[in-house]
Amino acid sequence: MSTNTNSITVKQATNSRLPDVDFDNLTFGSTFTDHMFMCDFKNGVWQDATVLPYGNLSISPAAKVFHYGQAVFEGMKAFKDENGKVFLFRPEENLERINKSSKRMAIPEFPRDLFFDALHKLLALDKGWIQGGVGNSLYIRPFVMATQVGVSASPADEYKFMILMSPVKAYYTGDVKVVIATKYSRSADGGVGAAKAAGNYGAQFFPTNLAREKGFQQVIWTDSNEHKYLEEAGTMNVFFRINDTLITAPTSDRILDGVTRKSVLALAERDGIKTDVRRLTVTELIEAAKAGTLKEIFGSGTAAVISPVSAFGYNEDVFELEKPSDSFATKFKKELMDIQYNRAEDTFNWRYPIV
Ligand SMILES: *Cc1c(COP(=O)(O)O)cnc(C)c1O
Repeated sequence: MSTNTNSITVKQATNSRLPDVDFDNLTFGSTFTDHMFMCDFKNGVWQDATVLPYGNLSISPAAKVFHYGQAVFEGMKAFKDENGKVFLFRPEENLERINKSSKRMAIPEFPRDLFFDALHKLLALDKGWIQGGVGNSLYIRPFVMATQVGVSASPADEYKFMILMSPVKAYYTGDVKVVIATKYSRSADGGVGAAKAAGNYGAQFFPTNLAREKGFQQVIWTDSNEHKYLEEAGTMNVFFRINDTLITAPTSDRILDGVTRKSVLALAERDGIKTDVRRLTVTELIEAAKAGTLKEIFGSGTAAVISPVSAFGYNEDVFELEKPSDSFATKFKKELMDIQYNRAEDTFNWRYPIV
């Protein structure tokens, strides 16, 4: 079946793979729903917007994305409440951010109406893939890549914008041990750290593997100049609770402006928790750990929501953190998820109803 509505052509899958999915044993981001969205940028315009059955692409091996890494992506989620209603969480932020990332990577911006129309059409077809129950969601992965053929080093004039959807359960199990970076960096002043550029992740894998060999799951990234300031935790923003103040680094060229980060800051303010958006040094962190005033460290991001840190390493030392009974990490995770799953009043207007 092929229909054309609001400029998006819909080609529906003839058979759904849904009955074959083992929802109890999902590996994060490796199962995809029946449909995906695709739109091409050619001759200066986005065109041929299509929702089609999920499947392989045929792309020239000379496409620029393979050679120069011109690619950006987003991560967002759809949730189902107990009545089966579907919601996105602050999707405007993801659209704005993918366009900001695109701009930094010399990729043309994607139109707002097409983005939302695509999400509505995909979710109308595949909402059955969202399992009920708190913790279950559909991870949505919009991305853009340079498809123009040619290995000359210049920005492409052809791109594909796509959206994939993947049913997921909670991302991390258990608390994470992190190590503070003293050699490698994920970003630099004037670089692409603030963009969700594909290559930022590729560049992180090697130092993260080294951390794993030493028994840590993630790296706490520090500034590239001096390795003195704490910036992000793996692919998450990072928060520190010293006494009862919540500290996180200000966003910059080097730090991704996370939707979860800004939501946590808003919730903290609402709840009367003191926040301090400033640069925190490694020295200050270690002094607080030694003095017993460092109560918590946690990461924030769409995939895991909030990831509590149970220990951090710095050079040869390891500092263990005992989870306080009034954990901010637990509190914010619950408050965020209550809003996402329509179990709490949405005073900030963060929920975006779909159907
Ligand atoms: C995506 C991402 C985050 C988290 O952003 P959210 O919008 O909260 O998902 C944080 N840091 C980096 C480097 C990221 O890529």
